[in-house]
Amino acid sequence: MIIIRQNILKDPKSIITGLGSKFAIISDENVSPIYGQALLKDLSKLDVEAFLFSFPSGEIYKTRATKERLEDQMLEAGLGPDTCVIALGGGVVTDMAGFLAATYCRGIPLVLIPTSLLAMVDASIGGKNGVDHPLGKNLIGSLYEPDKILIDAGFLKSLPLHELRNGFVEMIKHGIVGDQRYFESLEKYPSGLLSADSPLLERMIAQSCRIKSQIVQQGTGKRHLLNFGHTVGHALENLTQYELSHGEAVAIGMLVESQMAVNLGHLKPSSLDRIKAVLAKYTLPLKLPSEISIDALLNIMILDKKSINSRPRFVLINEIGSPLNCRHVEEPVIKNALQWMNDALCSH
Ligand code: ADP
Ligand code: ZN
Repeated sequence: MIIIRQNILKDPKSIITGLGSKFAIISDENVSPIYGQALLKDLSKLDVEAFLFSFPSGEIYKTRATKERLEDQMLEAGLGPDTCVIALGGGVVTDMAGFLAATYCRGIPLVLIPTSLLAMVDASIGGKNGVDHPLGKNLIGSLYEPDKILIDAGFLKSLPLHELRNGFVEMIKHGIVGDQRYFESLEKYPSGLLSADSPLLERMIAQSCRIKSQIVQQGTGKRHLLNFGHTVGHALENLTQYELSHGEAVAIGMLVESQMAVNLGHLKPSSLDRIKAVLAKYTLPLKLPSEISIDALLNIMILDKKSINSRPRFVLINEIGSPLNCRHVEEPVIKNALQWMNDALCSH
C-alpha cells in the first residue's frame, strides 16, 4: 500500500497504526539526526516501545556485515517477532531494512519511509531488497512486500541536488518505458520540479510510483523493461569505479541504448534528441570522465546478469513510452553505439 502524504512525521500515530507495539526504526547516520531522532522521540510519547538503529551512510555499507550488526543490536534489545521495522532513509536503508525484516524471526512487519527521491520512485516499489557483495550489487536479498510505503516529498528539502538527480533519471526512465504522456509532462515542467516542495513534484512522484508498480505487477516478463539504460549504466559505474553516480551512468546508458535502437531502425533520431534534452534539463551532466575502453565495457556487459550465453541483452525502445523486449544486439551495433558515446560525451 503506497500512501503519499505531507508531513508524515507530524502524525506518528498514522505510521504505526495496526502494526503492534514495538518498533525498530532503521536509518543511516545522515538521515538519523535529521529525521530519525525526532521520530524516535515522537513514537516514545505514544504507548509503544521504539528503538533507533543506524549505520554509516553509503552503498559501501549495504553489506551482510551491516545487516548482521543490526540484527545483533535488535536481538540484544530483546526484540522478537512482534516487532515492526520502520525503514527511514534512502535506497540503501530501504534495501537493508527490507532484507532484514524479511529474515528477522523468519519475517516481521515492515514500513518503508523513503527519504531520497530515488528511494521514493524506485527502490521502495516492487518488494525487492538486498545487500551487495564484492562480486556485485544486490547479489543477496529477497522479495518481501512492505505493509506500508509512506511517501512525503517534504523529506527532499534536505536532499542534495546530486542525489535528487539520481531520482529524476529513474522518473525519466519510467516515462520512456511506460508512459509517453508522463515523459511529455517531464519535458514540459522541468524547472519548477527541481524545487523539492513543489506540489507538482509530489504529483510526478506519485505517477512514477504508479508506472513502476504497474510494470512490476505484470510479472518478470515486463519487469526487465525497468533495466532500460542499466546494462550500459551498470557497466559504466563498474568501469569508472563509481566515479559516475548511478543516475549519471544510467542517463548515459539510456542514451547509448537509445542510439542502438536508432541504429537498428526502431527509434526516430528526433526521439533520441528529446531524451537527451530532457536529461539535460534535469541537470544531468551527460559527460564521461574520460574515454571509455569499448572492449573493457563490452566484457563487463557480458558478465551482466541479463546476459545469456555470454551475449549481453538490452531493452530497446521503439518509441518513447513503447519499449520492445529485452534482446540481444549484435556486437557491431553495440560497438558502434559505444563509439558514438565516446565521440559525443567525452571532452578529452
Ligand atoms: P539512494 O537513495 O540513492 O539509493 P542512499 O540511500 O545512499 O542512496 O541515499 C543517498 C544519500 O542521501 C545518502 O548519503 C543518504 O544518507 C542521504 N539522504 C537520504 N535521504 C536524505 C534526506 N532526506 N536528506 C538528506 N540526506 C538524505
Ligand atoms: Zn537504477
